[in-house]
Amino acid sequence: MIPNIAVLGYISEICALTPILMFATSSRIQSVIGDFRIESMMRYSLFVPRLYNLCKSLGFEAGRIMPSRAFCSDENQGYPIILIAKHFGTFPFNHGMVGGIVASDRHAAHADHGRDLVIIQASHVGYDPDNKTFGTYRRINTEDDDASTTCGKVGAVIEWYQEEYRFARNNIYLSREGDSHLVTIDNQLLHEDREQGLFLHLDRLVSHDSDGPVLVRMQSTAHVYLASQEFIASLPADAWPAGERQRIDRFLGPDLFRFRRTIEGDVEGRSHLEQNLINPMPWIVTSPEPLLVAAQVNTQAEFDRAFRTIVRAKEYQGRKILFIACINIDISPREGQLFPLTKCVPWAAYIQDGTGGSRTLEQDEIVGLLKQQSTKNPDQIDLEEAIQQMEKVKEIKIEL
Ligand SMILES: [Zn+2]
Repeated sequence: MIPNIAVLGYISEICALTPILMFATSSRIQSVIGDFRIESMMRYSLFVPRLYNLCKSLGFEAGRIMPSRAFCSDENQGYPIILIAKHFGTFPFNHGMVGGIVASDRHAAHADHGRDLVIIQASHVGYDPDNKTFGTYRRINTEDDDASTTCGKVGAVIEWYQEEYRFARNNIYLSREGDSHLVTIDNQLLHEDREQGLFLHLDRLVSHDSDGPVLVRMQSTAHVYLASQEFIASLPADAWPAGERQRIDRFLGPDLFRFRRTIEGDVEGRSHLEQNLINPMPWIVTSPEPLLVAAQVNTQAEFDRAFRTIVRAKEYQGRKILFIACINIDISPREGQLFPLTKCVPWAAYIQDGTGGSRTLEQDEIVGLLKQQSTKNPDQIDLEEAIQQMEKVKEIKIEL
């Protein structure tokens, strides 16, 4: 199968690794986000046996497989890990860093620890089944079963951008004077020499003539411009009140601005997640579900980046490998439940057959292939029994 080149090309751009100012064309970002079909989700208790059976159908041998996971550090990722251990018969290798970033410097160790190799990457997002919203998870081990931001790392990264966006929504105004549609913009948003912040696409927002943006008047802290025909046409008539001005608010859509921020840090370093998210950030902060969109974007970026590191790793050459990238949706446990009802949304997969053949599977293909697999797994282990066995076995004294 041929990878979606447009998607891969774009994701490579957002994975640029130097501190950089990143701007991207809006239509490409929108198409990438739109390609992700969240309805392809399946319960983890079905996903893992299907994945195991898929591996076996590809010639992976029971007892010779080393699964690994690149998950966030949160405790709610434990249930998927337990299921992986149960179905693959071994605890999975830890291939991940906070936020669901793949640690490619662990490829060699992973390759050493098993013959046939599986890597499961997942960004995660909480889901509150009572409010039917994404982005929080109820933590039953806290004093009051507090609901907190999930993924917390993603939430911390996007907070600065959300604040910048809130300022812009509250400090740009729309109004009408006679036949003229006006956009009043706070001067702070017009300073092009800022090192970082939200920068407007003025060419889309306001009219231009040969001298540049058409200025109607200057105020003490803002400029008043004539709105562009394109922008006027995109809004309902009542967005432009006569004789008074109203905040642009939700009409400040993702195609009207971009972010600039100097991000320090190396690949797979402290700011890697932010590098993955900055270009699509206008779509993240304007979404009603910002943490879900951020998880999608991160999974897409990590699949493309990690896939390239796997192909290049000499330790993986000539080996059977299945690499799959997903979103883990952590559904908060209800009264009496110990674990989240995690669902997996597969995004893409890369398969190497060990004899030189390889292929990349887009979302429809990998989901279709998984759904063809049985959810029964006769090789699965009884974890309780395995633990009991270990307790009963004669102790081995460590000789010093
Ligand atoms: Zn997390």
